[in-house]
Amino acid sequence: MLDKVDVLIIGSGASGAAVAWSLAETKMRIVCLEQGDWVKPTDYPTNGRDWEARQFSDFHPSPNRRARPSDYPVNDDNSPIKVLNFNAVGGSTILYAAHYPRLHPSDFKVKTLDGVADDWPIDYATLDPFFAENDRMMGVSGLAGDPAYPAKQPPMPPLGLGKSGTRFAKALNTLGWHWWPSDTTLTTTEYEGRAPCINLGHCTFGCAQGAKASTDITYWPQALRAGVELRTKCRVSRIETGPDGMATGVTYFDQDGVEQFQPAEMVILAANGIGTARLLLNSASERFPTGLANSSDQVGRNFMFHPYASIYGYVDEPLDGNRASPLCLWSHEHYETDLSRGFVRGYSYQLGRGVGAITEAITSTAAGRLPWGTDHHDTYRGLLNRRIVIAAICEDLPEAHNRITLDPVLKDSHGIPAPKVDYTMSENSHRMLDHAIARAKDILAAAGASNIGVDRPILFGGWHLLGTARMGDDPTRSVVNGWGRTHDVKNLFIVDGSLFTTSGGVNPTSTIQAIALYIADQIKQRLATLFD
Ligand SMILES: Cc1cc2nc3c(=O)[nH]c(=O)nc-3n(C[C@H](O)[C@H](O)[C@H](O)COP(=O)(O)OP(=O)(O)OC[C@H]3O[C@@H](n4cnc5c(N)ncnc54)[C@H](O)[C@@H]3O)c2cc1C
Ligand code: SF4
Repeated sequence: MLDKVDVLIIGSGASGAAVAWSLAETKMRIVCLEQGDWVKPTDYPTNGRDWEARQFSDFHPSPNRRARPSDYPVNDDNSPIKVLNFNAVGGSTILYAAHYPRLHPSDFKVKTLDGVADDWPIDYATLDPFFAENDRMMGVSGLAGDPAYPAKQPPMPPLGLGKSGTRFAKALNTLGWHWWPSDTTLTTTEYEGRAPCINLGHCTFGCAQGAKASTDITYWPQALRAGVELRTKCRVSRIETGPDGMATGVTYFDQDGVEQFQPAEMVILAANGIGTARLLLNSASERFPTGLANSSDQVGRNFMFHPYASIYGYVDEPLDGNRASPLCLWSHEHYETDLSRGFVRGYSYQLGRGVGAITEAITSTAAGRLPWGTDHHDTYRGLLNRRIVIAAICEDLPEAHNRITLDPVLKDSHGIPAPKVDYTMSENSHRMLDHAIARAKDILAAAGASNIGVDRPILFGGWHLLGTARMGDDPTRSVVNGWGRTHDVKNLFIVDGSLFTTSGGVNPTSTIQAIALYIADQIKQRLATLFD
């Protein structure tokens, strides 16, 4: 049998890397098990001319389409939004767009403010120092002074707006609406050994320049130097428990496919909003018949995406196209509740540049904008690099029927049941999307765009996986307490997006990582009494 470790972390993505790095200073023996492997920067599509084609094959953001050995299938047939992720050292940060807003202070108290869902047991002020610590570790570029947020100071200056961003900024000024250069985790200067962004191209297929902060190049090198052990190609199947109901360790398949048991004093789940619920449910036992840490019946429930719409149009001059980071500014004009709009809570806009030549050809052909025939090439020239895109990201409120369960039939390559997603968009989300699309058309009109196209909800838009093991003070209505410990199992913690009580109306990763650092800090402060 393997030697017992102090801390066993499952998953090496955004949250797993942060918690591993933070706990490393305790000098405890820490092991992280990751089902994927290191990705070599030379393998990223951005190195080659076929970079766009590879988004439809080995770098597709859907694990079902990509189907690498490191992936597990997800049955998302019963969802209008498909699940996206990446399974490797660095997790989904390998593919993320590095758009890096924080949740707003209001997001932590929606019950108090708006009478919906639940308040979080923690607030923005509690997380503030951990946001700042995480910004330093990931390397955030941005501009201080955004009126949508309490004061913050990104360590690097913001990305340039480029031609597309400048056009959007002027349009938003015309409308008198909020906009600000995005916080991103792309370097704009030399930063901690990372070279600055050279506008190689779209960042969502990995950055060969190392300018985009995925956790394999930020947290992990430091965590490994501090003594954390990272075992790759190791897929966990179950968290095991003893007669006292405490976690004893995990069963996993090692890189040779051999089943192993790794004993541990403490287990930390960082497998993301779907992977974590899947593992808890698959860890059912005589003592925990409905799944581990599930006495509340909330594991897998309250699953939240962010319903997204893409609203785009074409202008009369070539802009940035696919050159440079896809996103460069945001608008939080419609973020807070205004019931006169017909829905509760709100949304934000991610505004950015265009798309590449292949995406333009495929999507415009499908939409009927680019017919075959004698005008084909002229029409295409009139579209290429002239598209400007707004993405609307809507707050998704938790609903118990939106849930992850174990598929009774589908299994991964190790025979572990695959997760099954049952998800419907609420009436509130539909009304919010209606509003967001109508106002985005106002922005496009002000920006001089025509030939407007809309995708709603974006089918392959399940970037954010949240809420399936939510945080709360009441053990009958939540899975983890206010510092990430499961109510039912005192040596089992969760640090990933599954613990979000509500989703907010922005991308979650900055907040996921700040919470992971906060939970690590709580563990360090409470070490002497952790399992009492
Ligand atoms: C294409 C794309 C674009 C995105 N863009 C943005 C963006 O611009 N801004 C933003 O804020 N967010 C973005 N996101 C979302 C962001 O990547 C996630 O919010 C974030 O990575 C989640 O962190 P996590 O730690 O919860 O999970 P992940 O980073 O997904 O890490 C989970 C890890 O756990 C491992 N794992 C799971 N199950 C097991 C198991 N049984 N055994 C061993 N290992 C396991 C996985 O292999 C994976 O490496 C994007 C995501 C995608 C896919
Ligand atoms: S735009 Fe910058 S960060 Fe994005 S892939 Fe290119 S070099 Fe990397």
